[in-house]
Amino acid sequence: MNPEQPLSKGASAFLFDERCLWFHSGQASALAAPVGGWVQPLASGSGVASADCLRRLKSLMDASGLSAQLRIQSARPASLMEMARVHDRQYLERFQHMSANGGGELGLAAPFGPGGFELAALSAGLAREAVSGVMGGEYQRAYAACIPAGHHALRDQAMGSTLLANSAIAVEHAIVELGARRVAIVDWDVHHGNGTQSLFYERDDVFTVSLHQENCFPPGSGGADERGSGEGLGANLNIALLPGCGHAQYLHAMEQLVVPALLRFAPDLLVIGSGYDASTYDVLGHMQLHSGTFREMTRLMVEVAERLGHGRLVMIHEGGYSDVYVPFCAIAAIEALTGLSTDVRDPFIDFIQQQCLPEDFDCLHRQRVRLQAQQLGLTPFS
Ligand SMILES: [Zn+2]
Repeated sequence: MNPEQPLSKGASAFLFDERCLWFHSGQASALAAPVGGWVQPLASGSGVASADCLRRLKSLMDASGLSAQLRIQSARPASLMEMARVHDRQYLERFQHMSANGGGELGLAAPFGPGGFELAALSAGLAREAVSGVMGGEYQRAYAACIPAGHHALRDQAMGSTLLANSAIAVEHAIVELGARRVAIVDWDVHHGNGTQSLFYERDDVFTVSLHQENCFPPGSGGADERGSGEGLGANLNIALLPGCGHAQYLHAMEQLVVPALLRFAPDLLVIGSGYDASTYDVLGHMQLHSGTFREMTRLMVEVAERLGHGRLVMIHEGGYSDVYVPFCAIAAIEALTGLSTDVRDPFIDFIQQQCLPEDFDCLHRQRVRLQAQQLGLTPFS
């Protein structure tokens, strides 16, 4: 199928539940740190919260008519059995107990309020359902609007505002229940997808890829030398990008490293961990992407899925903290995913595109990518 050819109406799904937007950290936070001491309470009540971004995205989708062209549906929450495929039972019990008793801090920078367990289970359920629908042929592509996000969550610890490993739970469901044999997860959130990486680090049937700002969060995590271990050696790819990278650098890394690595691995399901905190206007990253970058990266992934002969592609929402800008980046990605279009125009893109990076920065970036491609024996995609 030609990836430029629009899919028919209803061919794609948007997994969404209003209740997930009610997830909150249980304490006002600023830049993911608690308010208190010398940090004044915030007038807005919350400093960094991705729920507002997703709420505004859904509003933009409704107002622009995009929602009307998609299958919009919720899902049952992930079951304890589904969660226990990637998390320790003791961890789940502790999370459940704390949630029933007002919430608290479950790990490293992962506070949550009352009822957080049920909302996190619902968020993971959206991811699982997106994968189920695509694997079962109910729709060809799907976007799961997951809040809270999942890609830092470890087997026995929450981290970085993520409590359950949404993508990993969904992928395990695809493998255990739906017959997927090889799955790839590409995570372009600006922070390292350390949780997803760790859960599949010794597995050769799940290829995990993370493009992220070098040494951002978690600190010291996500180097190119982390390539998996045991049977999983070679099934993890970290692309640690210099702070300041923009559209050209991301597309270059995708074409030189990510796409050839995916084609070589040949997954029968492709999952994208789509965070938007590598945008110019994000407070938790130092990259310079715009909506056109997310559109192009998604288009590339659609092309890869089609080249692999099955077209199965699921996007799972991760981070993104610019209330104003995430909706424009995400709607561009969803348009590329679904083949649908709207009249929405990004009013910020011209300004961002004018902020050209110096040539020597780009040279340094290209050198680093070339070296990594050589080390991995990858042939650039064209
Ligand atoms: Zn992030």
